[in-house]
Amino acid sequence: MHTPTYHSTIVLEQEALNPGDEAAPGTPGSGENVCGHCRARGIMEDGRACPMCGGTGIVTAGIGGG
Ligand SMILES: [Zn+2]
Repeated sequence: MHTPTYHSTIVLEQEALNPGDEAAPGTPGSGENVCGHCRARGIMEDGRACPMCGGTGIVTAGIGGG
């Protein structure tokens, strides 16, 4: 039996992945990168938190192959 798992719940944890993250924090071969969606500001033009980086302005990007 397979139970669908949805990550729709907003989890206010620093280690939580953001939609813009390409790799989990601490993943070997990954690194932090500025969020291009909000230009590292963390907020959008309308003042709302950037949905891609979760308002941090930083996304975890995969580096190298993968
Ligand atoms: Zn952003």
